[in-house]
Amino acid sequence: MRARDEQRVERARQRLIQFLAQGHHVLPGSLVERSVRCGKANCRCHAEPPELHGPYLQWSYTRENKRFTRWLSGEQEERYRSRINAARTLRELVSNLERLEIQGVEREEGWGT
Ligand SMILES: [Zn+2]
Repeated sequence: MRARDEQRVERARQRLIQFLAQGHHVLPGSLVERSVRCGKANCRCHAEPPELHGPYLQWSYTRENKRFTRWLSGEQEERYRSRINAARTLRELVSNLERLEIQGVEREEGWGT
């Protein structure tokens, strides 16, 4: 790999190492606010126009190609939001490192432009 690309890869690697060294918990998935209808037919959430319940917070993640969703209380949100954000940061740092690795190889081999 060319020296400049090598430096870029090294900087990205160091950012990833520093992040990991901070010892974050990481939770994959994402948080979404949802407003919902309940099961009571005469509730305001079934009126026209409907007044839905919520919004409530939902955490969704995929494991072994299966989608899981969990409702979070305010207290659970406090515990887990930072872990979910940390996982996103981790993915971004890894993606960035991989992008620079690809770039370096493409340039070295004269494949890309
Ligand atoms: Zn309702």
